Amino acid sequence: IVNWCPRCRTTISDLEVEYDERDAKLYYISYPLIDDKGKKTLKSIVVATTRPETMLGDMAVAVNPLDKRYSDVKGAFLELPLVGRRIPVITDDAVEMEFGTGAVKITPAHDPDDYEIALRHNIEPLVIMDEGAMINGNGGVYEGLTREEARKKIVEDLEKEGLLVKVEDYHHSVGRCCRCQTDIEPYLSEQWFIKMEPLAKLVIDAINKGKVRFVPDRWTRICLSWLENARDWCISRQLWWGHRIPIWYCDECGEVIVSVEKPTRCTKCESSKLHQDEDVLDTWFSSALWPISTMGWPDVGDDFEKFYPTDVLVTASDIIYLWVARMIVSGLKFVGEVPFHTVYINTTIQDEEGRRMSRTHGTGIDPMEFIESIGADAVRFTMATIATQTQSIRFSADKFDIGKYFTNKIWNAARFLLMNVDENITGVNDFTPERVEDIWIMDGLNGLIEEVNRGYEEYRFNDLAGRLYDFFWHSYCDWYLELIKNRFYRPENEDERLSAQRCALYVMDGWLRLMHPIMPHITEEIYSRLPHTSGYIILAQWPEVKEIGDVISAREELEFITEVIRSIRNLRTEINVPPSKEVDVLIIPEGDKYREMTERNAEHITTLAKVADLDIKMSASKPKMAISSVVAGASVYLLFEGIVDADKELKRLTRTYKKLEEEKRKLTLKLENENFMTKAPKNVIDDVVRHLEEVDRKMLRIGEHINKLRGENN
Ligand SMILES: [Zn+2]
Ligand SMILES: [Zn+2]
Repeated sequence: IVNWCPRCRTTISDLEVEYDERDAKLYYISYPLIDDKGKKTLKSIVVATTRPETMLGDMAVAVNPLDKRYSDVKGAFLELPLVGRRIPVITDDAVEMEFGTGAVKITPAHDPDDYEIALRHNIEPLVIMDEGAMINGNGGVYEGLTREEARKKIVEDLEKEGLLVKVEDYHHSVGRCCRCQTDIEPYLSEQWFIKMEPLAKLVIDAINKGKVRFVPDRWTRICLSWLENARDWCISRQLWWGHRIPIWYCDECGEVIVSVEKPTRCTKCESSKLHQDEDVLDTWFSSALWPISTMGWPDVGDDFEKFYPTDVLVTASDIIYLWVARMIVSGLKFVGEVPFHTVYINTTIQDEEGRRMSRTHGTGIDPMEFIESIGADAVRFTMATIATQTQSIRFSADKFDIGKYFTNKIWNAARFLLMNVDENITGVNDFTPERVEDIWIMDGLNGLIEEVNRGYEEYRFNDLAGRLYDFFWHSYCDWYLELIKNRFYRPENEDERLSAQRCALYVMDGWLRLMHPIMPHITEEIYSRLPHTSGYIILAQWPEVKEIGDVISAREELEFITEVIRSIRNLRTEINVPPSKEVDVLIIPEGDKYREMTERNAEHITTLAKVADLDIKMSASKPKMAISSVVAGASVYLLFEGIVDADKELKRLTRTYKKLEEEKRKLTLKLENENFMTKAPKNVIDDVVRHLEEVDRKMLRIGEHINKLRGENN
């Protein structure tokens, strides 16, 4: 018995049948018992079925041997209604006493379970439908009707004869063809099968010995459980395209010949009258040959020797059984070696409602359109960042903003760099950093190389994509390029200018190569424009860690300086200094080490924090008209006299504070109102609670600002 699609007119595999929950009817039909002389008696057995049309193919009625209700009818015969065929009552353990009446009709040619029962009882199956699921000549007066028409007519006829006892509503699942959605007909036909048990054992063994591993690991168990329960595989298909089944039949003696080469004579009777089986192999059988046939198998040439077995298969979870396990089968069976040592299963992206994206069901997006709108690299990068190995992800276009903005950022940074480097710059590849910010960024690149390598080795693509993003956006763009801008614009100091160019190019180049596997297009484009490179990035060497100078003190110094700059920026925001306005700052370092660091980087501080006058003093009394902040290694004072009108600012903040107080009062009243608390929906109450927390946070912050302005304003 195979799964037959009456529209595609071919068998389809168990894995290609999709199931639908459906409301249906359960029909109770009375089958009269007949006596020794072949006469109908008044007694009968009632059977229940969802598919009354299949009764045309009934060859028996079965009951459970333990079922007391039927103990006196075992071995008796029934007359099949509408058809008149004499059929036996048989007993079989497989019959469930709880289903329907406990008596089931046996239609061996159209039901896999019935087929098994019929085999055990030596009952001949009778096929009652043709390949298009129309009732055939065995269906008597119903010949030529479709399944649906036959059901209607048979139910009517049974009703007329008073044999339809009752009809109940019934809910069950129905198999459909995954290609055309037509209901599957279980169908008895002659097909070729592969005995799976010994082959599955080969694969189970290989997995258990660690010759193939799945990433994430949970798929190992899922694959094993399928293999342990694998049913024999029907591999013949009644289609036009495919590998033709390598089986020939002798027209003289009927011998079946299996051969790789086309045979010329019958192996039994020597006849030359042979014809090949018309069927082709299941697509998945051919696909299972992919790892070996692409390498030239059955010829074992140079490609095969060099490239088989391969390393990693990257694929989706829904074809682990259909394809992955079967590739391992053919690798082990035909060449004795697994085709790959690792199977990486991608995270599945579902549609916005959490459904599987499917072309047949019209769910999901057209990736080509999406790529057209935001670019392939943006899509690829986002996919890498969300591939967390944990579960399926719901698609939303917003998620892809991160890739879109990042691609723009990369492009703009590269353009800025290219505008500021000499066309014939040399000494980039063997550049040795001396200045602290150069050592710091190259040290950062070294760390990044190690982390990205580890990420690729462990298939943690989201981690490595995230690190590449952070390094580029925050370390390279936010800090490094800002720190060296002044050196770019300094034609009088050749060494400072050129070393800045070399270091910026060195790091950009290394980063592009690390990024290339995820964003191949933009990295190739920028690489081709870098003045010191030649050829293609795809052929370039993978970056390697480079020994550089004193990275420990460079890290310490940059950490200190960036903290100082950040704290000045925060102070500016706190008291509302307009972004364009420069401020005066006093820094009191804790000890000579921090004083030297501050002095060495005074220019960085003044440029990046918009400072007009930077005063560095080892000790000083607290300045008037200033707000302050403490970082590890120094106290930072922002002097706001003449920058912001302290009184005006105080008034503004106080006004805001009062407004918040009023808001807090109203929200609190609401939460104390019993009527509101009992009647409002939970999410509304939650919103109020959240709002109140937010107001509290704002009040705390503004209160601090007010205190700073007041306390230090005298
Ligand atoms: Zn179909
Ligand atoms: Zn022969």
